[in-house]
Amino acid sequence: MLYKRSSQLFAEAEKVIPGGVNSPVRAFKAVGGTPIFVKSAKGAYLYDEDGNRLIDYINSWGPMILGHAYEPVVQAVIEKAKLGTSFGMPTELETQIAALAVAMVPNIDKIRFVNSGTEACMSAVRLARGFAKKDKIIKFAGCYHGHSDSFLIQAGSGAITFGSPNSPGVTAGTAKDTLLATYNDLENVAALIEANKNEIAAIIVEPVAGNMGCIPPNKGFLEGLRQMCTDNDILLIFDEVMTGFRLAAGGVQELLNVNADIVCFGKVIGGGLPVGAFAARAEIMDYLAPLGPVYQAGTLSGNPLAMAAGLAMLQALDSDRAIFKRLEDKTAYLAAGIDKVLKANNVTFTINTIGSMISIHFDAARVVDFQTAANGDNETFRKFFHGLLQEGIYIAPSAYETWFITDALTYEDLDFTIRAIDKISKTF
Ligand SMILES: *Cc1c(COP(=O)(O)O)cnc(C)c1O
Repeated sequence: MLYKRSSQLFAEAEKVIPGGVNSPVRAFKAVGGTPIFVKSAKGAYLYDEDGNRLIDYINSWGPMILGHAYEPVVQAVIEKAKLGTSFGMPTELETQIAALAVAMVPNIDKIRFVNSGTEACMSAVRLARGFAKKDKIIKFAGCYHGHSDSFLIQAGSGAITFGSPNSPGVTAGTAKDTLLATYNDLENVAALIEANKNEIAAIIVEPVAGNMGCIPPNKGFLEGLRQMCTDNDILLIFDEVMTGFRLAAGGVQELLNVNADIVCFGKVIGGGLPVGAFAARAEIMDYLAPLGPVYQAGTLSGNPLAMAAGLAMLQALDSDRAIFKRLEDKTAYLAAGIDKVLKANNVTFTINTIGSMISIHFDAARVVDFQTAANGDNETFRKFFHGLLQEGIYIAPSAYETWFITDALTYEDLDFTIRAIDKISKTF
């Protein structure tokens, strides 16, 4: 396949946009070449500016769980747009989506909407610090919680792909309040808590990690964090920006039956429009302005187009709970197919999956944390990525990213992908 017009468009973009992209993960820096420019998308497919059709395994990095241009979402946005696109005043729609989210997700009473996952996590941590009246937080190496200052310490996918786990511009003062722990390692967390007695406001974690490839929690890991938080008066924050409304209607809290104190959302909750949200029991949420002392705000928060898209998406998921099993089945089918052909072609690899998330690491060892994720062979990944691109299959241009399975993907699409991987991996 040719990607000529995309290259030309990228050259134009580079003149006026840093690196030609508005988010670094879209660049092809880690794999070489130039990004693909999208013209449109429908269902499981992207259509690019060169007229190529690509099977999409990124799906806008997660939101499009029902496939692109899902009709009820598109219709909801069109209808709302005709009635005005922003008011900066309350609408009934905000209460409707809030009520549905609170009904779908266990263990939350109230939810506040923002414009991105970054904002959700940033606000959740501020709320946790204000509520707990302590300053420090613990985060895990390889977990990504958006690009706000407190989190750009060993921050997963994007930051790792570009070799800057710790960003300049984050002050030493901010960095010192973020303690770094190892994913799936409870002893490490216990030692940090012990060394910082009564100073830790919150532990923030991706309850299923998705930004260093897909890494499910070891049995007992989340339960252990829950117990330590309860014992030490620390708030547990689940960053479910990726997993919320994806791994189950109620996210990982429901799937693995562990309760967090504050939960962050993004991606699926916005149906493809810019939405994030954070939620907790009333006692914590009422600590926010205008009721409480912790300030948080947004001119476009609860925007009617975004809320209409999000509500249509949540209604679709709520009324078809079988979807989560369907997605899991497809993921398992794809994983088994890839496993078979890679083994037949003597490739060294590990596949991790949970629900509709899957990732392939080109290393033999079990991938359980950032260190084991980083051991993958980048040269093999580069060949794999470009091989897939030539076959008309789009995965993220980084070995640290999860693939997302959507309801729009057919078993024919999955078979096509497995055959393509068989062909490519013969040339490794
Ligand atoms: C994508 C992501 C974020 C950031 O969300 P944005 O909408 O990109 O700001 C935060 N946390 C997790 C787990 C994510 O996957």
